[in-house]
Parts: sequence; structure tokens; C-alpha cells
Amino acid sequence: MNEPTTRSETIIGIDLGTTNSEVAVFRDGRAVVIADENRRKILPSFAGIGDDGAVLVGEAAKNQYPLYPERTVRSIKRKMGSDERVELAGKSYTPQEISAIILRRLKSIAEQHLGESVNKAVITVPAYFNDAQRQATREAGRIAGLEVARIINEPTAAALSYEAAHHGRKHILVYDLGGGTFDVSVVRIEDEVVEVLASHGNNHLGGDDFDQKIVDHLLRHLQEKEKVDAKVSRQAMARIGRAAEAAKITLSDQPFAMIEEEYLLENQGRPVHLSVELAREDYEAMIEPYIRETLEAVHIALKGAELTVADIDEILLVGGATRTPLVEQRLEREFKRQPRGEVDPDLCVAMGASIQAAMVAGQDVASVLVDITPYTFGTSAVGEIDGVPTLHRFVPIIHKNTPIPVTKSEVFYTMLDHQKAVDVKIYQGEDPDAQHNVLLGRFLVEGLSKAPAGNPIVMRLFLDLDGVLNVSAKEKKAGLEKSITIDNALRRYAEEELEVARARIGALFEDEEETIEAAPAEALEEGEEAQSQHAVVQARALVEKAERMLPEATPEDREDMVDLIETLKDAMDAGDNAAMKKSVEALSDILYYLES
Ligand code: AMP
Repeated sequence: MNEPTTRSETIIGIDLGTTNSEVAVFRDGRAVVIADENRRKILPSFAGIGDDGAVLVGEAAKNQYPLYPERTVRSIKRKMGSDERVELAGKSYTPQEISAIILRRLKSIAEQHLGESVNKAVITVPAYFNDAQRQATREAGRIAGLEVARIINEPTAAALSYEAAHHGRKHILVYDLGGGTFDVSVVRIEDEVVEVLASHGNNHLGGDDFDQKIVDHLLRHLQEKEKVDAKVSRQAMARIGRAAEAAKITLSDQPFAMIEEEYLLENQGRPVHLSVELAREDYEAMIEPYIRETLEAVHIALKGAELTVADIDEILLVGGATRTPLVEQRLEREFKRQPRGEVDPDLCVAMGASIQAAMVAGQDVASVLVDITPYTFGTSAVGEIDGVPTLHRFVPIIHKNTPIPVTKSEVFYTMLDHQKAVDVKIYQGEDPDAQHNVLLGRFLVEGLSKAPAGNPIVMRLFLDLDGVLNVSAKEKKAGLEKSITIDNALRRYAEEELEVARARIGALFEDEEETIEAAPAEALEEGEEAQSQHAVVQARALVEKAERMLPEATPEDREDMVDLIETLKDAMDAGDNAAMKKSVEALSDILYYLES
């Protein structure tokens, strides 16, 4: 029996990272990462001394780093196990002591949350850490008042966070791209035994290098456009650094990032503002050589484990920088399987450490539960399937197994000069042919500005925990936007139900299916007839939405809505386009007001 007889002693799990650290505890069958009093689960691995001589840890120390590097220490993990000492506000410290400052803070975050004192921890270290480095980590724990119950490898912890309840044998590739380090490990998990077969990596490669590429790009822009060298101002460089990281994170979910820093610095008495837009495509070209380097390391690790790509059963994504879509894409291309990232890549090592801690304490450990979408959501576009041109190429936007809530955007381009409208269809499914997936909804963005082909339209999908999918499409240039909300997007369809659903949704559009499907999905230059059919589709969708929203409207709005729904239905039946347009506008206004 694994059930604890008395309430077992709490052992916390700690991921003591180069850039960030986290603390987790296993409670009620779940690994939970503990947040601090500001609801932050991630503690930057920075320690410092503030203006008033007080010790600063985490965010506060990170914030002062660009201005007071002599009073701040970062990336101390790189020095663990060495005799090197670091200077902090004029005093010298061992790496163990600095790490202990971070560990003390994590211990106190756990104690505040649990309401009890905590004296034991499982701490993770990279698989390549030698004895001296592991010993130094133990010592750091002791200095912080923590008995280190176990030191475990980070890839082992990551594998545990996914596979704690696994039976049988599996080979897992753990791809860990953090802020400043990259590690890849091949792990074998067999019943309860997790073994690292081989590891490889680069101690100086990570998301910070991606930031640096953006920083260089911004500096070049300032030099060329404003004839100014921002490097002369430490403060300006700190702002550029922060803006670059923020843009990088935006580009993980959106096709463009706007970088704006007003009054960045002065040039000959004149203020210099920074305002640059960065496209994901251009950013990806900047970081591509880094990703290629990580893939070379993956192959070295595989060779070390005497395995091939085909032997790998799972790829696990660890480290914040694996949220970069290009990472997932390249791994998928290499391994012909989708990497798993459903356990938060920033938190899974700490979660795995807490699972190990629970095992040490004799608790019963089940698999870890996370909220993810089991489906892929996307749209259709002109493209190719197996080399054959098609109008219905499925373009995934939110991939299955993504943790929710999630927001993702993609950019699409109009195909024709002066294209007036875009027909947006939203599908759920995995088939490259959108027609074989389930059509969840559809809407038309009309009145686009007069632009040559290639006018960018940004589509944004937001899926919340209740399975409500909100879709919007926006003409980037003019800001014209349309959106719909799809309830129940996460309803689980059985195979046979899929057929029924496809037929049902298909029937909704039966009249116009032929004419509309014949036009390119993204490239509509329609005749009048097709336009009026679209207007009917739009009106029908609006009526449905209005009916759904009736219960939440005030009595006066409800009365107006009911009247407008009636008038709209009459206009649709009579084929009176002008009347339809008028009611659609009035009803849209009320719905817009209700939603905002
Ligand atoms: P870690 O050391 O695992 O905490 O990873 C930190 C790195 O992940 C930093 O370089 C972050 O800027 C980066 N990161 C965090 N979130 C994202 C994101 N959404 N997209 C890309 N990089 C991210």
C-alpha cells in the first residue's frame, strides 16, 4: 500500500534553473507549481542588493540588473561546482551561497502557501552536472535550511511530469531550450525506472540569443533611420532588451509584433522614438541557424544512446524558449511526430521534481492532469495537398495538445488585386483537406480597402477553458475586423458523430456550397449573386448569435433584439437585400455593445 499512514512529511520539488527557478508540491494527486504573493510562479534566478542594502531576489533583482550589474548576480548556476567567487555590492560570495539565496526564497514561497514549515526538497540538476556540481547544489540546499532528499536529473523530472503513471518501456527525447542553455537528453522509462541514456547540449545557447538577434536588428534600425547609436545609453539598452524579449514572446503567438519605445534617448537635443514592426517570418530567419544547431545536438545525443529517430516514442518540450513555433515545426519535420508541450514547458521540471518528492515521501502518485485541447482548430486557404493545388488546404492555427486557455494568430494574404471580401471558415480536425474536417463556423469580412493582392488579414483564435472559441479576422491595413464565437468547440466528437456533424453543418450552407466552394477560399471576387448569398449566411449566423445572447440582454435590449430578429428573418425570406442589410447593422450594433 502506498497510502500514507500518518500525514507524510511535505517534501517540495525545486527546479533551480540558470534563468528561472520554480517550486512545486504534490497535493491531492496533482503536481502544483506554487505562486508567490504576486501570483507569479516563475522566479528569475537573480540575486542582488538594493539601494537600501536589503537582499533582493527574483523579479526585483532582475529589474535592477541592467542599471546596477555590480550589485546583482545572474546565471550563478553556470559557476556551481567551481571555486570561483562572485562579487556582490563589494562582498565576495561562493556560488553555493548565491544559489542558497534563491532557494531560501523558494522555500519561503512554499511555506507561505502551505502554512507550515518546509525542511526537505528534491532539487533538479542538468544531466551533464558532475559530482562537484551536484555536491555544490546539495550544499546550497543546506545553506538555505533544506535537507536535499534527492538530486535528480532535469530530463528525468520532465519525463516524470508526463509519464509518472507509465507502465512498459518508452524512449523519450527531452528537448530543453531555456533562456541561456540548451540540453537534449534521451531518456528510457521502464515501469518506474527512468534512466538518462545520453545527453548533449550547448551551455551558451537559448532564448536570450533570440532576444539578442532582435536587439541587433533594432540597433541597426536606429542607426540607419535615426543616425543614433543606442549603445551609449545603458538605460536605452535596458529598454531595448526588454522590448526585444516582449516582441519575441508576442511572435510565438502572433504573426507580427509592434515594438514601440517612446523617448528612448536624445540625439542632439531631439527625442528619439523607436517604432518598428517585426514579422515572424523575418524573426524566424534570424534564429534559424540556432535551431539548426540544436538539431545537430539532437542527433549527437541519439547517436550516444545508440538509437535512431524511429526509436523515439515521445518528444517532450521543456524550457520557455520551446514555445517558439519554429522549434516545434523543425522537430516535427525531423521526427515525423508532434512534440508534446501540454505540460507547461517552464514548469514541468519543477512538477516532475515534486512527483519524485512525493514518491520519496511514500505518497501514491498518479499521472499529472493538465488542461489541453484534444483537437486542432484552423481555417482553409488556397494551397496544395500532395502537390495538387486546392482551394481547401487546412491551415492549423491552434494545434491539438496545446494547453488552454490559448490565443494564436496567423496572417493570410488576399489573392486578387482590389479584393473586396474574405470568406473565413473555421474547422476542427486533423485532415490536410479542410473539407474532411468539421466546419464549426464561417463568416465574411467585407469592405476591404482597395489594395493590390497580398493585403494581409490577421486571423486570431482564442480558446478558453470552457471550450468557447472566439475567432476574429482583421484587415491589418485598415483595422476592419469581424468576429464570431463558437460555443462547445471542445465537445468530443465520436467518429460516427463526425459524419453527422459534417452533414449538419454542410446543410446549413447547402444552397451556396457550390458557388462559394468554387471560389478560392481566401480570394473572393464574387458576382452579385454570391455576395447576396454570403449576406444571407452572415445574417443567419447573426440571428443564431443574437438568439443565444437574448438571456443576458436587459429587457429593453431584448425587446429591440426580438424585433430586429423578426424583421431580419422576414427580409431573408423575402430576399430583400436592402432591408436585410439595415437590420444586420442594427442587430450587430446591439451585439457589439453587449459583448464589450
Ligand atoms: P527558462 O529558462 O526555461 O525559464 O526559459 C526562459 C526563456 O524562455 C527566456 O529566454 C524567455 O524569453 C523564453 N520564453 C518564455 N516564454 C516564451 C514564449 N512564449 N515564446 C518564446 N520564448 C519564450
